Amino acid sequence: MNNIEKESLKNSLKKWFRNTSNNIISSIIASIVFTFLLNKAEWPTNIEKYKSFLLLGLLFIFLSVLFFLAIKIFSKKTYPKIKAIVFDFDGTLSRCNVPDLHSTWELIWKELGYKVSDCHNLYKKFKAKEFTHQEWCNKTCKAFQKKEISPDKLKDIAQYFELFDGVKDALDNLKQDGIKLYLISGSIVQLIQYIWGDDIYEYFDDIKANIFRFKKGKLTKIVGTKYDFEGKAEFIREIYRNEKLKSPGEILFIGNSDNDEFAHKSGAQTLCVNPRLVNPHNKKIWHDSLRFTDYKELLEFIESKYL
Ligand SMILES: [Mg+2]
Repeated sequence: MNNIEKESLKNSLKKWFRNTSNNIISSIIASIVFTFLLNKAEWPTNIEKYKSFLLLGLLFIFLSVLFFLAIKIFSKKTYPKIKAIVFDFDGTLSRCNVPDLHSTWELIWKELGYKVSDCHNLYKKFKAKEFTHQEWCNKTCKAFQKKEISPDKLKDIAQYFELFDGVKDALDNLKQDGIKLYLISGSIVQLIQYIWGDDIYEYFDDIKANIFRFKKGKLTKIVGTKYDFEGKAEFIREIYRNEKLKSPGEILFIGNSDNDEFAHKSGAQTLCVNPRLVNPHNKKIWHDSLRFTDYKELLEFIESKYL
């Protein structure tokens, strides 16, 4: 066992004890109260009574702790243990502050003076396979060039997004547990970096998203990522191979929307959070789902089911 594995085991034990100690202490207190009541609310007065009081008390404590542990073990739906997590970005790690807007693309189109429906129309045509992903990027690029989008404009747009509360703390915890973290997004690498901050590569082992290529402040190309939609499953398979995992099921994919629905094809476990445009109860695509406002809730969910 190397140092990282030892540290990870120590953290797991600490967390398990922290999560269960309150319930065990409650069991012990309840046992003492029951023993006292069963003894007709009297403390033992001689050594014989004291012995039977102690024996009864210990029996109660033993049974109640056993009962509590049995409930904890049998009532919890758990999944195979994971070694890596792949996160989507928009709506999964970050959210948009503008009402009724959800993705970075919608906001860029709107901020450049277009209608949000212009963004949606292109998306619908791509989904209907009228053109490829790169052609979609090229059409978007032309529209953005007309409005002279600049890196500064992208920085301004980043202000409309924020990370979910507690994201960095939660990811720190997962890294301490020895979990590898990846980010795979249909958003834009530069925008993700502006929203997250300079320390983004301290958290993620790899980041895949579309890239805006600028020359002298002018947009020259949008390089489409091959890892969106069906590509999300391909990226997960690559992680499985590179990390030399026993199975893709040792990877948990966390996403929120319809471009994430292909991830399950990789064989990874999937978790739908704060769903949008998807049915999180479709068990073929999403193995579990969760709504949350703070990443503390998501961290607890992951720790109790996947670690
Ligand atoms: Mg998303």
